[in-house]
Amino acid sequence: MTCRELTAFIADYLSGEIPPETRLEFERHLAICPNCVTYLRSYEDTVRLGRHAFEDDEGPLPDTVPEDLIEAVLSARSKSSAG
Ligand SMILES: [Zn+2]
Repeated sequence: MTCRELTAFIADYLSGEIPPETRLEFERHLAICPNCVTYLRSYEDTVRLGRHAFEDDEGPLPDTVPEDLIEAVLSARSKSSAG
């Protein structure tokens, strides 16, 4: 496997959809090519960051909560604790 081929398979490798024999060649190339190890690491970081951005559909609620809602919660809390 060449560096170019390896970069083409990275997405499949990380998602686990790579055929076992291709995976073997992939890892064999990583063992001899520090450049591709570095590339794989930076690719993983990018994917991780990208997932956070597109997580809204299936993941937990996004960090951005409407301010109206926050104020409603806060005022409800202060009322009940006073009450
Ligand atoms: Zn390489």
